[in-house]
Amino acid sequence: MKYCKSCLATDLRPNASFNDAGVCIACQYHSDEVPNNSSNEKIRLLRQWIEELKKRNGRKSYNKHYDCIVGVSGGKDSTRQAHWVRDRLGMNPLLVCGAYPPKQMTEIGGDNLANLIDMGFDIEVVCPAPRTAAHLSLESFRKFGNVCKSTEMALFAVVPKIAIEKKIPFIFWGENPALQVGDSATLGENEFDGSNLRNLNTLVEGGKSWMSSVSNSAHLKFYEYPDFYLMKKFGINIVYLGPAWDDWSNDENSVYASLQGLQVRPYDTDSTGDISGASMLDEEFTNINMMLKYYKFGFGRATDTVNERIRSGIMNRSEAIEIVERYDGVCDDYIIKKYCDYVEISVSTFWEISNKYVNKDLFSVKRGSRPEKKFKVGEDFD
Ligand SMILES: [Zn+2]
Repeated sequence: MKYCKSCLATDLRPNASFNDAGVCIACQYHSDEVPNNSSNEKIRLLRQWIEELKKRNGRKSYNKHYDCIVGVSGGKDSTRQAHWVRDRLGMNPLLVCGAYPPKQMTEIGGDNLANLIDMGFDIEVVCPAPRTAAHLSLESFRKFGNVCKSTEMALFAVVPKIAIEKKIPFIFWGENPALQVGDSATLGENEFDGSNLRNLNTLVEGGKSWMSSVSNSAHLKFYEYPDFYLMKKFGINIVYLGPAWDDWSNDENSVYASLQGLQVRPYDTDSTGDISGASMLDEEFTNINMMLKYYKFGFGRATDTVNERIRSGIMNRSEAIEIVERYDGVCDDYIIKKYCDYVEISVSTFWEISNKYVNKDLFSVKRGSRPEKKFKVGEDFD
């Protein structure tokens, strides 16, 4: 396992790409950014890109009322995106939320969604059939060591589906995963171009056939991302806002969204490992996935958060190492128990499945206790 020379990204991340100097693509991108007045310039480039896409779309007949969709969860990023698209870009968005089934959604998540509706946007909330959702989650846990794969597939798929159905030409997402966390498979024509979002590792890994062993019903339609040609036929474009936004970061977005009434999860870092206190507010099982990711690849959510802080210059690498040593992979037993109840397995079955996915080069696995890491954060290891 090799670390980026500048941040704490490792080469074990799926689709990671380092240059000859050993620097990850996210760090390269940040050091290439134009520093002066970059925000106005980037907004101009974003508008230019939107105009270019309109030209390419030609004269299709589109929705008369909404010119774009913002995919929302009720979390910090989406609150800010919705406002930005309306107020800075002057567009008229329909918000689309792929909601979690009631047993998965948290109290805070429900409140935050209500808060977003209160802000005066039109919003369409779609929720998958709960039993199928739970069965698919368990199956993706067994098959991929990932408890959220199907949920993410649903959340990503529902937005372009509604765009097609309602003939709405633009979909705005926040971060560009290639530039923010280094998933190079999603790179597009430029930093705003989201047409390759469909290649996101979590959406394509393992294909779709694994789902049919759980259910072959119409419920599975919900999880299918519309194919490339369908998107093209209807002229649906995906655009990332993050690059046009000079203060786009997890931290800035939480502050902004809190001021707009978003509730965060303040003093719970020791059970969730979430050092920002504001990510994944709407449900708790993502915390399990962050832990599983850590056991598979040697890095977790704390790493992603500190990397952003290193790139924006508010934290140095050694401070970051200390935080990552403490919080990567943290996930309290109560969250695991809650998940086990949701998918109807025992806690010992949970660990049996989890341990199969632990990278045994990086961790030692013992029965009855959690895997123990062999490496030191920030130091190359083999
Ligand atoms: Zn880096």
